[in-house]
Amino acid sequence: MSEKNDRASWIKGGAARCAVPPKKPAQPHRLVLLGAPGVGKGTQAELLCERLGTCQLSTGDIFRAAKSLPPGERTPALEAALDYMRRGDLVPDTTVLDLVRERVHCLRCESGFLLDGFPRTVAQAEALNGLLDREKIKLDAVLSYDLPIDQIVARLSGRRTCGGCKAVFHVTNRPPRIPDLCDHCGGKLLQREDDRPEAVRLRMEVYEKSTKPLADYYRQRGLLVTISAEGAPEAIYERTLAALKGKGAATKLSE
Ligand code: AMP
Repeated sequence: MSEKNDRASWIKGGAARCAVPPKKPAQPHRLVLLGAPGVGKGTQAELLCERLGTCQLSTGDIFRAAKSLPPGERTPALEAALDYMRRGDLVPDTTVLDLVRERVHCLRCESGFLLDGFPRTVAQAEALNGLLDREKIKLDAVLSYDLPIDQIVARLSGRRTCGGCKAVFHVTNRPPRIPDLCDHCGGKLLQREDDRPEAVRLRMEVYEKSTKPLADYYRQRGLLVTISAEGAPEAIYERTLAALKGKGAATKLSE
């Protein structure tokens, strides 16, 4: 199993260096992950990175890391981006693209990359296309995870997070030993505000409007691979590998 990278170069940008040097696999993977909130995209990203020796490059993680910077260390653009994020809106394309351009070295990484949460709009996808063309880098595939809306609502509305250690549970799929209490630290389990059924439906509407057209964009370019996100994470992972093989993308696992 591969050692987990702290992705410092991506998260912090600038001169920050990653704790674990690039793995240089024989066939590095260069993938984009698409999927509505709650389809289990994050879990698949973790499994793919761990087993394919690549890095999960999430724009959401850059914003979350920026939240913990002291206000004096945040640029005005980053400060404005955090306001959008707090409201649950998409951050403007120009800000997101500036952040990605500052981190173009991560796209050149010999370990490959797995883009998660970027691109989020067709304008971002077009800018990414230009960036990759200039760097002479080709995407292997765009993996789009699909799940019926009722199952998404059930997954997200059943999710509970520990107020103390942040461990994640699910009322039916992964229940705690004692109802409403964390198995690890005994903390109270809470429901995220945006995981309430009404909020989930709203998030899905935003997704349908701004992010779904991306699937068409990549389908037209012959890169889209649709994967059913039903069932357990390992089953979905197996489906992902089979889909990548079908696409002719590398599937050699790192040891
Ligand atoms: P995520 O963890 O990917 O759901 O991202 C969390 C939040 O960060 C989103 O709700 C947006 O406010 C912001 N964000 C992350 N990535 C992007 C992106 N590519 N474009 C616009 N906003 C983004």
